[in-house]
This record gives sequence, structure tokens and C-alpha cells, in this order.
Amino acid sequence: MKNYISQDPWCIVEDGFHRDYNEISESVMSLGNGRLGQRGNFEEKFTGKTLQGNYVAGVYYPDKTRVGWWKNGYPDYFAKVLNAANWIGIDIDIEYETLDLNLCDVRDFRRVLNMQEGYLERSFVAILKSGKELQVNSKRFCSIVDDEAGVIRYAIKPLNFDAKITITPYIDGAIRNRDANYDETFWDEVRKETGYGEAFIELRTRKTGFHVATGMGVEIEQDGIKVDYQSQPIKYEKYVANRMTLDCRQGQETVIYKYAVNLSSLNYDPDMIMKEARQSLQRITRKGFDKMLFEQMQAWADKWKTNDIVIDGDVAAQQGIRFNIFQLNQTYTGEDERLNIGPKGFTGEKYGGSTYWDTEAYCLPFYLSTADQKVAKNLLVYRYKQLGKAIENAQKLGFRAGAALYPMVTMNGEECHNEWEITFEEIHRNGAIAYAIYDYVRHTGDEQYLVEYGLEVLIAISRFWSQRVNWSKAKQQYVMLGVTGPNEYENNVNNNWYTNYIAAWTLRYTIEAIEKAKALDAEKYAELIDRIHFREEKEMATARQIIEKIYLPKDDERGIFLQQEGFLDKDLMPVSDIAKGQRPINQHWSWDRILRSCFIKQADVLQGLYFFEDEFDTETLRRNFDFYEPMTVHESSLSPCVHSIQASKLGMREKAYEMYLRTARLDLDDYNNDTEDGCHITSMAGTWLAVVKGFGGMRVEKAEGADAQLLFNPYCPNHWQSLAFKIRFRGALLQITTTQSDVTVTNFSTKPVTVIIHGKAITVDGNAAQTVKITVE
Ligand code: BGC
Repeated sequence: MKNYISQDPWCIVEDGFHRDYNEISESVMSLGNGRLGQRGNFEEKFTGKTLQGNYVAGVYYPDKTRVGWWKNGYPDYFAKVLNAANWIGIDIDIEYETLDLNLCDVRDFRRVLNMQEGYLERSFVAILKSGKELQVNSKRFCSIVDDEAGVIRYAIKPLNFDAKITITPYIDGAIRNRDANYDETFWDEVRKETGYGEAFIELRTRKTGFHVATGMGVEIEQDGIKVDYQSQPIKYEKYVANRMTLDCRQGQETVIYKYAVNLSSLNYDPDMIMKEARQSLQRITRKGFDKMLFEQMQAWADKWKTNDIVIDGDVAAQQGIRFNIFQLNQTYTGEDERLNIGPKGFTGEKYGGSTYWDTEAYCLPFYLSTADQKVAKNLLVYRYKQLGKAIENAQKLGFRAGAALYPMVTMNGEECHNEWEITFEEIHRNGAIAYAIYDYVRHTGDEQYLVEYGLEVLIAISRFWSQRVNWSKAKQQYVMLGVTGPNEYENNVNNNWYTNYIAAWTLRYTIEAIEKAKALDAEKYAELIDRIHFREEKEMATARQIIEKIYLPKDDERGIFLQQEGFLDKDLMPVSDIAKGQRPINQHWSWDRILRSCFIKQADVLQGLYFFEDEFDTETLRRNFDFYEPMTVHESSLSPCVHSIQASKLGMREKAYEMYLRTARLDLDDYNNDTEDGCHITSMAGTWLAVVKGFGGMRVEKAEGADAQLLFNPYCPNHWQSLAFKIRFRGALLQITTTQSDVTVTNFSTKPVTVIIHGKAITVDGNAAQTVKITVE
């Protein structure tokens, strides 16, 4: 765990240059706008520890699979998030010396990610070997208004010298992925152009043939006045630049404005892309840095209006939650149904592919409650569009036509993962995709979604489950053999409780959805079942049998569900018995030792009790929590949030808070020693869940004979003065503010809204607020 990021409610601050942690700072200071993003790298040359990263959403490369022992069914390639052209670079040469913070002394270094206004700022004084002192202030952002554009204001000031300074803003497409399997380059150059103060390069990905045009324009000011400079165009392979040399006086500020655009063939015809890039660059250059920044600040202010969570009395917790909300918004905006939320977003390369079950299981509720309904819908439609590929994927593994197995990791619907125990066995992911449809319909009331898209996906997933179970003569029940549950520290187990449960639940929900769809639009339903050859009577009868006779391992004596058959044979012990210095166990123990141990990577039985909590009483949750949590090492970033929510529900406030901080500050404090690879974007939604579903106790309740209502059981962790969060629900925007003694519901919409607070229904008029005393502990 590191502790060098200064606490601040709105900013992520690195005070003083922490060279050894530079890659961590680059990760946490990443910028993005849903369309493009980048790590918090330096603009000027830097020869120290750094991971350069610029990314363009939806642009990937299918890297040839690397695996020791090939298994039939593995995909031939693994789609990787692609490191794209570096457009932030600005080399600074002061006579014969190059500015490089690795090779000089650094004073007054400060790097700040301003989350309220959406930009990254850096300032420092570099003391060069010659003794010259140069002050630098830079500010840059990826615009959320012009989402193909980014802009930099880079100001230099000689403090104790006059000199000719050479400035070289560039675009470098000669970049590689650090995680490339065969150390290949993934880009070819198509064309490049340079002009006065501008340069363009068009690159094409190998194999996938995506074109990305990147352009830059440069303006320079001295003493606040725009200067005409002599610019020397430079072209190398996959590299374009403009070089200019200026007389810089002691104390005089020279400001370089670098405007950049990145257009991809996802949105443009490759034949026109350079022309479009030129027009786009002209447009933003005309707009200018100040206007762009102003618009950026306003757009972020608007986002925060519906997204912010305010914690009074705990800066570390406040900074943590805002950091998570900020990064989620930077990663996915929901405007394009072809895009999704990569586990590292725009903050690193690790985890090729962009879509895991993380999206459905963790991220969806965040977007459901904080963004327009279409954002969550687009996440579902993304999977709907990939249904054909999921069916092919299941066929490849031997399942019959119509059954779908969604990939563990994907970009375009094809499987991008190749470890048999996960690719073929971690099939619970299919259940999360079904659960997300339920979650969406429950929150939005959009049952029409089932008719148009949802049911087809549900039937295909149900067909998979019906074929994946088998009848055990010995048990006289349906069993599911050879699976990996969410706890990846167990592989190839039989009857993972969570997987069996979610399989049976999917069948149940599919039957329910069929009835709903028939009632809503019988004609459309008839069309669907005809198209997909759904034999309603037969397939539903099979489903009913499985639901009734599914084997769900349990231990009656302890009153718990068993993570899998045989779990109790393990040498059971709490995590506190692990010797000091041996955690995380995945960095200290052999895989074999981990597999045999009782230690749990992330919520497994508890994941099921979290999803399906309405089907179990609180005492069942308590018994399972008390049994499993002490054996859980939380070595997946997705783990602490589920436990925090459950601890809140069980009144275990200290545990809930401990788990909350672990998820909220996971990257800021580098808990798992891996932030340098990038941030854990999908688990950030878990942080939000820990606040809203955990401390806020929010649930969607279906009231008898009435529309769904929101229910809250809010409390403030002991040392907080107050907690306030906002929720969008069916056209209304609500704020729930809780102190140690009362709860205030503010209704920002015009219509009255009824919510249930600690079991009592209250109706709050439009544009009004109501406060109730907390009487329940
Ligand atoms: C977790 C998975 C998760 C993946 C990507 C793994 O460490 O065990 O549940 O889907 O990371 O976040």
C-alpha cells in the first residue's frame, strides 16, 4: 500500500516528484472522454520509468494467441486494447540540453488531476545540468464536448537565463504495446502531411484494418501575444513533427498550445478520414483553448450535478468516491452501443479485450442510476448485437444450435481469453448477462426491452444452461460439472453453488419473461420463436424440471451454502492465519498451493446472495458471510464492494467501512500493488455500489399493485457528518442526504415521488425536500 497521493476532496494530487511511482501516478492521472483517452504521461521527453499510453475507443488488435499447451476451442487470437499514436509529445531543447526530468533535478513538482473541472495540470522547476532553471506549467484535457479532441497548454519560463529554446511538438505512431505477445508493431502508416504549425498522420491497424487519423496544430504566445514562428516540418517513419526555435528571455513566459484530434474509421470513411481530421482540427483550433476549457468545465459541472456523492467529515473517503465516479465517466459515456467498459478503461493495456462480466454485474447499476436510460440500454444492446457470436462460441464448444455462451472477454463478440479453466469453465458470466436484463427492466420499468431484445438473449442463455447441466443418477438431481466460479482460486470444480443457482434462476426468469412478452406483444413473440425455432412447450418443460431438481450444495449443520462440492474437506482457516508478508497470495504462492487452500479471491456464494438477496433471509446471509468472508483475500478488485454492501446490510459498520475504503482507494493507495498497469475501472462502479446500496441501502422494490418504488435504509459511517448521493429513477432525480440522525430526500423533478425510508413510505413533492428522523438502528 502506498500513501503518497495527497488528500483533497476534488483533486488527485502528487506533491513532489515520485520517480519510482511514476507509472502509478500516470495510471491514476489518466484522462478520457469515452472516445479517446490517455495515461498521465509527461509531454516532454522522459527517459525514466513510464508506461506510455494513448487509446482510441473500439480500436483493437487481434494479437496471435500465445499459450503453452493448445486446447481445442481456444481462440486463435486475443483482441488487445491498442496503444495508439502519442499526440501529447512536446520535446524541449535548451541549446544543447534536452528537458528530461529523469536527467535533471526537479523542484516544486506538482501533478494534479482536477476532477471537478476535468483536466490534468503539472508544474515544476527543472534544474538542468548546466544550472539553467526552467519553470514549466502544463494543463491538458480530453474534451468531453468535442470528443475527438484533446488540447494542451504548455508554458515554459527560463528563471535564470536567456536562451534559444527549440520546441518540437510531434505525433508519434511508432509505438508498441508492452503486452504484445510477439513483440510486433500493430500499426502501419498510410500517409502523413505537415504544414505550417500542423501535422497529420494516418495509421492503419494490421489485420483489423482500423484507420486512425491524428492531427495536431500548434500556436505559440509570448508575453500573452501570439507569435509568428518559423516552423520546420519533420517526417520520419510513423512520426510527424514541427520544430521551432524561439528566443526566450529570463522571466518571459512562452506558451505552446497544442491542439489534437483523433478520428477513427469506426466513425469515418477511411478515404475521407484525413480530410475530416483537418476540418476537425481547424474547428477546435478556431474555438481555442480557453473556450474549450470553459466548455469542459461546464460539461463536467453538469455531469457532477447528477453524479456527485458528497461525504462530509472524511476527505480520504470523499476523494476516493469522486475519483471512481470521475474515471467511470471518463471511460464510458453510453453514446455508442459498439463500445463498452474495459477493466482498465483508458488507463493501461493489461487485460486485453474490453468487456467482461464486470460490465453487467458491477457497472450497469451505476449507469442506470446516474445517466440517461439509453446509456444502460446501450450496454445491453451491445450484448444483444453479439448474440450471434455467442451462439457460434457455444457451437464451437459442442453445444447445439441456439445455445449461447458469451465470451469471458471480448471486443467484438468473439472470445479473447485462452485459459481453459476460465474460457471454458467460468461460465457463470452467462448468468450475469441474463441478470443485467432483469436489473435493467427492474430499474427502468422498460418491459418492452424484453420483447425487442432481451428475451432472445435470455432464451439463448437458457438453452446453454439446459445443455450444460446433466442428470446425476446418483443424486437424482441436475448437476453442473467442471466449472470455475467467480472465485478464480478454485478451478474445475463440481457444482459451484453460485453457478448452479444463477443457471436455475436464468431459466426461471426466462419463463417469466416469456409470459411478459406474450402479454405485451403476442405477434412479435410469435415471430421471435419462429425465427429462433423455440419449441416452447418442450423447452419450457425441460427448464421447469431443471429448476425443480437443480443440485445446490449446502451444509445443514452450519446453515450455509457450499461454494462447491467438497469445500468442507479443505483445511479451513481465516486469512489472518496467513503468514506475514505472504499477501497478496497470488504474488507469493504457487498456483497449486492457492488452488488447494481454502482462500477465496472474491465473492462467490456471497455474489449469489448479493444478486438474489430477496430470495434469502438476513440470517442466511449472516451465516454465509461469517463463514466465507474471513477466508476471503479480496485479491480481485471486484471483491470488497460486495462485502461492503452485505456488511452494511448486516449492521457490521466497521467492516463495511473497511471494505469501502479498500474499494474506493484501491488505485489511489495501490492496495494490490498493480496500479502501475492501469486503474481498476470496472470495480470503481463497485465503490459506487458500496455507497449507494451499502451505506444508502438503496433497492428497487416492487410494491403490490403499484409501480416500483425506491427503498433506502441509509446510515452514515460513524465518523462522517453526512453523506449525500443522487439517483435517477424513472424520470426523477432524487438526492438522499443522511446524517447521523436524519435523512432528507430532495426531489429535483416536477412530479411528486414516493420512496420508502427505513420502512416508511414518504411522498416528496416536485422541487421539494422532506426530512425524516432515523429511528431504526
Ligand atoms: C476477476 C474477474 C474479473 C476480471 C476483470 C479478475 O481478476 O477475478 O472476476 O472479471 O478480473 O476485472
